Amino acid sequence: MIDYHIHTPLCNHARGKMGTYVKRAVEKGLHEICFLDHLTISEPGNRLSMTPGEVPLYFQAIQNLKQTFRGDISIKAGLEVDFSPEHADLIKQITETFSFDVIGGSLHFPGNIDIVNSRSGWKQGSLDTNDVYRLYFSQLKTMFEYDYFDVICHIDLPKKFGRKPSINFEKEFDEILTVIRDKNFTVELNTSGYNHPVSEAYPAFDIIKKCQKSGVSMTLGSDAHHPDDVGRHFGRAISLLRSAGYTKLASFTERRRMDIPIENLTGV
Ligand SMILES: [Zn+2]
Ligand SMILES: [Zn+2]
Repeated sequence: MIDYHIHTPLCNHARGKMGTYVKRAVEKGLHEICFLDHLTISEPGNRLSMTPGEVPLYFQAIQNLKQTFRGDISIKAGLEVDFSPEHADLIKQITETFSFDVIGGSLHFPGNIDIVNSRSGWKQGSLDTNDVYRLYFSQLKTMFEYDYFDVICHIDLPKKFGRKPSINFEKEFDEILTVIRDKNFTVELNTSGYNHPVSEAYPAFDIIKKCQKSGVSMTLGSDAHHPDDVGRHFGRAISLLRSAGYTKLASFTERRRMDIPIENLTGV
């Protein structure tokens, strides 16, 4: 089993040492994990992220853990990068300076609106639901014009607090899916949603089915912000993937995708 979305205390809102995350993964029988900690350059999210200056330290810490746990588990190095068009060059430079295995693209702050924090206007209900979804999908499309990332993290994130739009965004989503397929992006099945008010995985099952029909590859991540989160809800996740017709999961080495047959996955 693999877990391709693990945070570290460098983002200022995850608990537990990096080594403890690895130990939990070994205990749960995972055979590969990928650190995918936040790199958010702009306000308001940059307080909840490592700084660009910390990236070398982060990358080196992963290399050290690879050595320490050699033979027990495979450890990959990644970043969860927030979309920030004004810093696109800096992001590209950072991601290309180090030999990261995978770069995730996320949109936690469409148009600088915070859609993840529990104290946000989005959570509190002070924003128009349809407007936020419209903004999110339009920003996602803009994000796809850049090519610094391999995986799209929690693609239907606006549903986090259980707010669903009253208008149908299927047409917008189908357009998005076409770009994902054409650009050969991988979509992440992120199980943290089971612990959020929406109480379901990202993305929803109908989106997983659409991705499968379009031939889009998927990977799997817990979005662990605590060592005990590693591999959470993976039994449910694998059932969803199988029901949607998936037989493989994507893993990455130095930004190259490799498919792992689901039937070979054990652990958790
Ligand atoms: Zn995220
Ligand atoms: Zn994350």
